[in-house]
Amino acid sequence: MSTNPLHLSPTPIALSLPKEKTYATIILIFSILVWAGLAISIVGAFYAALFAVIGWLSHGLLAAHLRAESVRVSERQLPQLHATFVRVCEKLGMTDIPSLYVVQAGGALNAFATKFAGRNFVVVNSDLLEAFGPESAEIEFILGHELGHLKSNHIFKRVLLAPGILLPLIGPAYLRACEASCDRHGAFVTSDLQGATRALLALGGGKAHGRLLDAESFAEQHNDERGFFISWHELSSPYPTLSQRAAKILAFTNPRFDTQPERHPLAYPLAMLTPGGRATSGGANTLIFVVIIGLLAAMAIPAFQKVRTASQEKVCINNERMIAAAVQQYTLENGKAPTGIADFSGPGKALETFPACVAGGQYQIDPQSDGTVKITCSVHGAHTY
Ligand SMILES: [Zn+2]
Ligand SMILES: [Zn+2]
Repeated sequence: MSTNPLHLSPTPIALSLPKEKTYATIILIFSILVWAGLAISIVGAFYAALFAVIGWLSHGLLAAHLRAESVRVSERQLPQLHATFVRVCEKLGMTDIPSLYVVQAGGALNAFATKFAGRNFVVVNSDLLEAFGPESAEIEFILGHELGHLKSNHIFKRVLLAPGILLPLIGPAYLRACEASCDRHGAFVTSDLQGATRALLALGGGKAHGRLLDAESFAEQHNDERGFFISWHELSSPYPTLSQRAAKILAFTNPRFDTQPERHPLAYPLAMLTPGGRATSGGANTLIFVVIIGLLAAMAIPAFQKVRTASQEKVCINNERMIAAAVQQYTLENGKAPTGIADFSGPGKALETFPACVAGGQYQIDPQSDGTVKITCSVHGAHTY
């Protein structure tokens, strides 16, 4: 008899949360604008193409590392784990079975899913396997979670939506929704829902004692530990907190855990200043961030130069006014126009120091017969005063 209420539901439960789609739509609109901006700006298109190539190459190296250094699971290699994996894939309706690898990662309790050249990969750290065993409900949950990422096409979406994922608040909210959806995939495939919470407890408390921890009191931490910093952490984190994830699993069987504790209102403005993205896949996000900065710079530099040019012209015209006034004063006092700059400019004369054009222009002064003065700057052109 299954203890998993996701199995007992009379109608198939949509495993992905609706809010994941909502966030994705908003992020998609922003991302399309950024990609379009990059495409029409030559600098942006160049950077985007450059980083796409770099990203593709480094991702290819990661996949090569997996394929060459990690253990590929098959009927012959770790057959029990293989059987569990195939069973979990079937439960999720995945006919195309991804490649499953086990990797020794120095004790880290982690698993991930990725994609390269159209091929899906699921990677499980060996310590998870040692902690739970190849046929455990815990491993089913973890495999189901990672397959959820592949089934929901999260890897492709993370590239497509990359500019928007960097946005504060909404970016992390989207990533958290993805993880929560994948936890539901994991909970759906596991034969024992308590195995799912045990897996989460081990992620928090370590493989030796984590499984022995009390799931309910850990889930209660989500309600007990509140305040400004917890809220800020939650809002800027790409994962729901472990205690929240445990609470969500327990909530399937116990509505007491189906709570949404309030967040401190001051955490929102602080989270606005904390960019999104994900520290562990920071490489690609950092690259995209650089591309966006490059694009903004490419757009800002001409605008900045325009402002600079306009202000230089203003200073130049001011110079010309001073020169014209000095020429007119000389003409008035001497009854004739000056024949050289030295006539009206110098110590004790109308113009103490002869001004220079800030853009490096040279002044040509032509006193007119009607008393006006025409001054031509080699950079800024002719004006009459
Ligand atoms: Zn995940
Ligand atoms: Zn000038």
